[in-house]
Amino acid sequence: MPTEHELIAAAKMMRPELSDLLGAEAPEVESKLSELLDDAKAGHIVGESLVAIVRSRSATSDWFEGHFKSVSVSAVKGWVDSEDYERPGGLPPPFKGIRYKCPKGDQFWYALFIGETPPACTNHHLQMVPG
Ligand SMILES: [Zn+2]
Repeated sequence: MPTEHELIAAAKMMRPELSDLLGAEAPEVESKLSELLDDAKAGHIVGESLVAIVRSRSATSDWFEGHFKSVSVSAVKGWVDSEDYERPGGLPPPFKGIRYKCPKGDQFWYALFIGETPPACTNHHLQMVPG
């Protein structure tokens, strides 16, 4: 997981992109983001709330995923792309910005970082599945 500081820096970088990313939905996300950034300036911890907002839209999720692709992720991807690899123990699976959904289809959740486990659906308390 990125640190609080990295999340805030990323959110600030994403802000000018919102209208391109979200079109008509941009103002809603923009106002939530600027509230959080104000809170952050006042010394509050906002990382989790930021991530929740980012996750609520696939466009912002994708942006964050691209932003946080780290050297280690590229290394894993390079290794997966190479011919006839064998998966060494302990390495995370290749990361592709996976979308998860409730088996009943009412909630979606976008993984942003390697090794994240999706939460259970808050309506059905069912484990979310890739889809
Ligand atoms: Zn559900």
